[in-house]
Amino acid sequence: MITPRVEIDLEKITQNARCLTGRLGPRGISVTGVTKAVCGHPGVAEAMLTGGVVGLADSRIRSVMRMRQAGIRCPISMIRAPMVQEVADVIRYCDTSHNSEKSTILNLGATARQEGKTHQVILTVEMGDMRDGILPEDLNDLASLVVATPGLALKGVAANFACLSNVAPTAKDMAKFSRLADKVEGECGPYVAVASGGSSANLAWALGKEPTGRVNNLRLGEAILLGIDPVSGQPIDGLHTDAFALFAEVIEANLKPSSMPMRPSAPTFGKPFLISNGDQRHRAVLAVGRQDTDATGLFLPSGFGFAGASSDHTVVDTGKTSVSVGSEMKFGMNYAALIRAMSASDVEKVVHHGLPIKRTSTDTRPQPFLRLI
Ligand SMILES: *Cc1c(COP(=O)(O)O)cnc(C)c1O
Repeated sequence: MITPRVEIDLEKITQNARCLTGRLGPRGISVTGVTKAVCGHPGVAEAMLTGGVVGLADSRIRSVMRMRQAGIRCPISMIRAPMVQEVADVIRYCDTSHNSEKSTILNLGATARQEGKTHQVILTVEMGDMRDGILPEDLNDLASLVVATPGLALKGVAANFACLSNVAPTAKDMAKFSRLADKVEGECGPYVAVASGGSSANLAWALGKEPTGRVNNLRLGEAILLGIDPVSGQPIDGLHTDAFALFAEVIEANLKPSSMPMRPSAPTFGKPFLISNGDQRHRAVLAVGRQDTDATGLFLPSGFGFAGASSDHTVVDTGKTSVSVGSEMKFGMNYAALIRAMSASDVEKVVHHGLPIKRTSTDTRPQPFLRLI
């Protein structure tokens, strides 16, 4: 088989999604499956839908279009605020977009009117992560603007946590977010249908015992795909952490003196360690590099150590084990490694247990989706 390649077990992704939707449902929380780490891979999207997510979300319009072209008809939201140049495609391919800027909102409204559509807006609120979002004191003005703009409907509010800060939200943060949803409803009139409380970083809170308040949705990527809590870096109970694997080919295998200090950056290593100069080690050079993945985010076969990577080579210390040229090595991936491998054009993607795209729709509008590329 072609290397380098990512092998994807879609059944495990479905099971992860099913497990999370099953646990969050009784807490009154629906799940939107976030496909950005897989660049809108249609098979992965369908696996999430089979596992019970109510819709999909991506941060890039190209990925949304990829899913639409594959026949995916479910609601898709754009979770990064649209660029000016994306507005027309966002109106065409997305049901909903997350926004925080007045000019973009007006632009979306004008384009939606031209197309004879109503586009749904979710307002992102700044809750302390300091990435994107409207300051809470400015929320009601922007919400009123959305309500007053023909072509737009205010669908709800959203919070982001742990995007820049890596700080998980507390019950207090979440209660504050619920109060903001109430306030928008009180002052701007329409029912706030969606209060999307955050991402995989919210799971510790959402699966805990604190009241969920107004929060009725989470947008989950990493937890479904990798089974990992992004804040703690720990596996989430009951989820598969090996739905994805990267395979690369050994192009050189030699016994070499190891005068080089081992790097501490691979997640399989707790601490850096040094190997004495006289020590001969087996080193395998793999035909995969920084262009293809985040090599420091690879999980190596046990007993092997990460020795370094350049743009096209990754060197693995295989200890006492000699591997042969032409053989394949299998790696697990963290989120950074996954996102880069999935977007690298030289990395083949191979799926296992794929289901056909159902082309079912919860959307009753006419479907103009297959218009381009
Ligand atoms: C990436 C992203 C998510 C999903 O984050 P995960 O940590 O992968 O669950 C949710 N919301 C927004 C706005 C995002 O950009």
